Amino acid sequence: MPAQPGTTHLPRGKEVPLKPSVQSLVGRRSFFKSLGVGAAGASVASLVAETDVEAAVQNVNTNSRPSDLKITDLRVAHIARAPMQCPLIRIDTNQGISGYGEVRDGASPTYALLLKNRIIGENPCSVDKVFRKIKQFGGHARQGGGVCAVEMALWDLAGKAYGVPAYQLLGGKFRDRIRLYADTDGRGDGHEQGLRLRERMNAGISFLKMDFGIELIRDVPGAISVPTGQSAEERSLTMHPFTGVEITDKGIALLSDYVAAVREVIGMEIPLASDHFGHIGVNSCIKLAKAMTKFNLAWMEDMVPWQLPNLMKTIKDAVDIPILTGEDIYLKEDFVKLIDMGAVDMIHPDLATAGGLLETKKIGDYAMERGIPMAMHFAGTPISFMASVHTAAATENFVCLEHHSLDVKWWNNAVTPAIELDGGFAVAPDRPGLGVEPNPEVLKQHLLEPGWFEPTPQWDKERSWDRLWS
Ligand SMILES: [Mg+2]
Repeated sequence: MPAQPGTTHLPRGKEVPLKPSVQSLVGRRSFFKSLGVGAAGASVASLVAETDVEAAVQNVNTNSRPSDLKITDLRVAHIARAPMQCPLIRIDTNQGISGYGEVRDGASPTYALLLKNRIIGENPCSVDKVFRKIKQFGGHARQGGGVCAVEMALWDLAGKAYGVPAYQLLGGKFRDRIRLYADTDGRGDGHEQGLRLRERMNAGISFLKMDFGIELIRDVPGAISVPTGQSAEERSLTMHPFTGVEITDKGIALLSDYVAAVREVIGMEIPLASDHFGHIGVNSCIKLAKAMTKFNLAWMEDMVPWQLPNLMKTIKDAVDIPILTGEDIYLKEDFVKLIDMGAVDMIHPDLATAGGLLETKKIGDYAMERGIPMAMHFAGTPISFMASVHTAAATENFVCLEHHSLDVKWWNNAVTPAIELDGGFAVAPDRPGLGVEPNPEVLKQHLLEPGWFEPTPQWDKERSWDRLWS
C-alpha cells in the first residue's frame, strides 16, 4: 500500500538494523497506520532504513492528511501604516491548519473576499489548480491582490501540510540569503538624501533606491514646462505622454546636481536605483536618463507606464541606464511581451500583483532564458515579504528584493517568529509554509478597521457562471 501523501513516504530497498527505540515502535499497528503504510508491521519495518523511520517519527503531522485537506473559510484583518494599508487573509481548513496571505498594499480586501465561495471545498495543496480557477478574477496592479493573497495562503497551507518550506515546493533554493534593496523617499536636498541613504548602508543594506523627479523642482522657476493651471493631482492621474510636461535644461541640471550630491555622500560603489520621476514626456525621460549615465544608476523605474511598451523600448534603446518595470503587471503574459519586444533591461514584479509565488518564479525563469535579471517590488507586511523571500530563494535570476518598511518600528514583530535581517539580507527559513504567523499582540494595535479575522458569512453565497468560453 503506498504511503499517504503528507504523512511520510518510506523508501524501500535497504535493510538496516533498527535502534531499540525504533524497534519498540515496529509492529505497532497504530504507528504504521499513522505513517500510511498499512498494517504490514515488521515486514515493512525490515525494509525501512533506520534514519528514514527516525525522520518519520519526527515529521509526521498527525493533524494533516493533505489529500483530504479542504478549505472551509476565508477571513480578513486589515492592517494600517505598514507603511501602506494591507489586508491580511486567513484561509482555514477542515484539519485545523490555517494559511495566511496578503492582498497587495493599498488594495481592497474585497478582491480576496469575492474568491471565498470559489475556493471553499477545494484542496489548498492543489495550488496551481485553484490558482487557474480564480485567476480570471485578478487584474493589473491592486486588482491582482486577491488572487495573489489566496495563492500565498495556499502555499503556506501546502507547506504546513507536507512539512516543508514554500521555496522547497517551488523547486528548492538557489540561495539562503536574500539581498534587500532599501526604498527611500525623495525629500530635501541631495546631501540630506545622501545622508539618509548612508544610514541604510550603515545598517548593512547593500543595494539602494531613491526617488527623485519633477516634484523636487516643480516650484523652481524655469525648471519644467507645465500646461498653465495643471494641478499636481491632475498630473498624477494622467499617463506620462499625455500631461504635456517636459523638463527644461535647467531642470535636468538641478536633478543632476541632486544626484551628484547623493553620490558625493554614498560614493560610486554601491548600486543606486531610482524611481518616481514624475509624469513627463518620452523625450524628457531620455534627456534625464542620459544625464544620469555618469552616476551609474542601477536602474530607472517605470519611466512610462508599462502599458506603453513601444515608448518603453524607445527610451531603453536611447539610453545607457537599465530600464525596468513590472510592479503593476498581473500574470506572465505581459512580462513575456515586454521581454520579447526588448523593451526592458530588467523586470520588477510584485508577487502580490504578478500572480503569487509560482507565477513570479515562472516570470523570472522566462526572463532568465533571455538574459533579463529580476528585481522584486514589495511594500507590505512581513506576510507578503516572506512570500517574496521564498520566491527569491527559488528563482535563479533574482537580484534584490525591495524592503519598504525599514522605518516602521513594529514591522519586524508583526509576525512570529519576528523577522530577523542578517544585515541587508533576509534569511530563507527552514520552517514549513511561509514560515511565519501573524502576531496578534502587535497587529491588533495597527488595524485599519475593527476586526481580527472575523467571520465572513456574507461572502458564502455569491453565485455566478464564471466560465470564460462557450
Ligand atoms: Mg516603483
